[in-house]
This record gives sequence, structure tokens and C-alpha cells, in this order.
Amino acid sequence: SLGCAKNLVDSEEIISFLKRSGATIVPDPKNADLIFINTCAFIEAAKKEAIDTILEMAKYGKPLVVLGCFAQRYGKAVASEMPEVKCWIPFGTYGTIAQQLNAAFPNLDLSGGIDATKREFAYPGPEAYLRIAEGCNDFCTFCAIPYIRGRFHSVPLPLLERQMDDMEKGGIRSLTLIAQDTSMYGRDIGTSLTALVQKCLQHPRFNWVKLMYLYPDEIPDSLIEFYADSEHSLTPYFDLPLQHASDHILKRMNRRGREQDYVELLDKVRTKRPDIVLRTTMMVGFPGETDEDFEELLRFVEKEKFDHLGAFIYNREEGTPAYSFKDQVPAKIKKERLDALMKLQAGISYSLNKARIGRKYKVLITGYDAGNLAYKGISDLFAPDDIDGKLYVFSDDPLSVGDIVEAEIVNASVYDLDAKVVRVLEKAERPTTDHIG
Ligand code: SF4
Repeated sequence: SLGCAKNLVDSEEIISFLKRSGATIVPDPKNADLIFINTCAFIEAAKKEAIDTILEMAKYGKPLVVLGCFAQRYGKAVASEMPEVKCWIPFGTYGTIAQQLNAAFPNLDLSGGIDATKREFAYPGPEAYLRIAEGCNDFCTFCAIPYIRGRFHSVPLPLLERQMDDMEKGGIRSLTLIAQDTSMYGRDIGTSLTALVQKCLQHPRFNWVKLMYLYPDEIPDSLIEFYADSEHSLTPYFDLPLQHASDHILKRMNRRGREQDYVELLDKVRTKRPDIVLRTTMMVGFPGETDEDFEELLRFVEKEKFDHLGAFIYNREEGTPAYSFKDQVPAKIKKERLDALMKLQAGISYSLNKARIGRKYKVLITGYDAGNLAYKGISDLFAPDDIDGKLYVFSDDPLSVGDIVEAEIVNASVYDLDAKVVRVLEKAERPTTDHIG
């Protein structure tokens, strides 16, 4: 399963469908009869990774099934050059996955299909994603997602409620809500993200509820209130992909909101919840980005001091408006700007991390890292999947996945933190022996 967490949820639903159809899932491709590759094609690097993975899997000499965004966007164009791929299943045709597989492999007789309420979690444990919508209506001029994944549509609230109930019963303690544009949730079906979060927070076993990918101009005060609610608080982790801070570039990107709006929003969130952890994503080298635009971005980042910042170099994406913008930035300058931005952020992240030494956090134990002789943990401080950094937890006594501890930060690097267990707050209900040190 390549690409983002949203794609991973697709893979989990596909695996569930295959298992319900009688397939056995084997981790080693050597032992498989069919190899499934769920791809991403969002940016140049993702396309390359998809092609490399297909070529690598082809070496096993087994028929390949390629799904996902790469199949959607390029399957038809490259099918004749990749005869190892016996079946291309574009993202938009998952409704007929059984029929497509039966047609490609006559010895199969699959029935049924993908069911959003049935997932086979890729990483069984106490944390999970909840995908609340699909597609996007925002049409940022650099982004191919609306053309690949289609228009925004929310998952019906009752279906999400059922999924949340099942997850809570299944032992999930940390839930992360995702979509291409999370804040848009519900607008197409007469509800709202605030209503969904309210439902989510009614599940007392969810100790961490994080929202990823919020769009800056769609965040109502009612949602921000949840971060300050002392009884049923959203995890104070605020992910706001901004892409840039120069109004000139934001306009060309077709992003709504301007630098001043972003400053006011961040002020409002910090006033409500002073300890909130802020994450953003920025893009450098967008067509027409001048030295002044880039300096504006650096000034903004320096001033706002995000806890986490992911940065990308702009890549021309076929079929998007920015592809044909005339004033493309030379590759060398794009790289220099990325390096300068990441250097600035590294200093900010390091000083914020250092300031956390001595502070105590509630941590959910999610695994064991044998290389570092430490447990891995989820807290308020990082997103899942280590995209921000890693929290290593050291303990004198053995812990289980699912234990909740209080841990004190004892060491900090630019991105990662080390913590020492102060006390165990709660033992896992159903301790697993997986990943135990
Ligand atoms: S909000 Fe913009 S960048 Fe994000 S998925 Fe939608 S179009 Fe792409």
C-alpha cells in the first residue's frame, strides 16, 4: 500500500473484501498467487514509487493487480508496457472489484465487494484512521487530486458512527480523522465537522482524537471550542496545511484566505488552547514565486513557529492549471529554497522540542523499536505514522501495546523525543504480545 493514510484505508477495505471472499493474505510476495499493489500518483515522486514497486513485484513472476490513483490516472496509457499487470483496477471502479478480478482471472469466482464498515487493519493496535470523506472541490492550481479522486463527498454520519462504535469496541484509543479536506465534512449531506466531532467525543475510550488536513477558511469557532473544552477535548494538535504565506502566490495557487487571515486564525486557536501543537505544510518553487515571496514565507514561518512543518518542492502535474504557467522556477532555486526553509524549521523544531524536556505527557504505547531498545508511543505531540517525528519511551518495567503511561521528556533532537515512564496510568484491556520488548 503506497501513498497516504487515505490510500491505506482503501487497502484495509480491499484486504477485508479479499478475506471475506476466501483469500488468504500472505505477507511475503514469494508465497502469493496474486500480488496486489495499491498506488498513489499525487506527485512525481509517488508516480516513480508506483512504477518502481510494480517493476520490483514483477520480479516474483506472479500476476499483478494494480489499484489506486496510478491505475486511475495512467493504467490505460501504460498497460501495454507492463504485461505483468494482469488487472488494472482504477480507484473509480472499486464498486465492481469482484467482477473485474473474475474477468481477469477465470479461475476466480469472487462475489460481494468493498464495504466501508469492514476493514482489516494494516497495523493492528490501539490507533486507527477514520476516513470521513473522499475527493476535493478546492482545485488548488498545483494539485491533481480533484481530477483523480473526483468531487468532494462525505461519508454519511450514521456510517461513521457505526465505524466509531466498532473501533471503540475493538480497542482503538487513538483516532485520527482524515480526508482531502477534512473541514468540509458534512456540507454536501446537511451536517458538519462540528457535529461529527461531537459524536466522536462521545466515545469515552477514544483518548486521542486528532483532525488532519483542515482547510484554513472553513474552520468555525464551534470547532475551535472543542480544543478548549476541559471535559471532552479534541487532542490539542492542529494540522493546517497552508501551502504558502505570500498573498501573491496563494492567489495563483487558487487558495482561499490570505496571510492576515492565517495569522488571525492561528492567534485564535492559540488563545483558546495555548499548548496546542501546530502542524502545517508548505510548498516552495511554485511558478512565479519571487525572492520576495519566498522571504515572505520565511518571515511567516519564523514568526508563527510551527511545531511541525512539512515542505515540498512544487512539481508540474499534468492536467493541472499550474502545469502551463509560464514562469516556472528553475530546479536549482527550488532546491535552495527547500533547503533554506527546512534549515529554518529545523532550528524552530529543535528549540520547541528542547523546551519540552522535563514536561510530562500522557502516552499510548503502540509498539517496540528493537533498534532503539525503546517503546513507541502516541501523544498529543505528533501525528500518527511518524510523519512529524518519533516518540521513544523508555521503561524499567515491561509494557504492552495499548498501555497508557505518563512519561517525562528526557531528551530532544530536531524531530524526535525520548521519554521516561513516570507511572502507568492504565494497562491495556487486551494486551497483545506483538511488538513487545
Ligand atoms: S485542498 Fe487543494 S491541495 Fe488539498 S486535495 Fe484539495 S485541491 Fe489538492
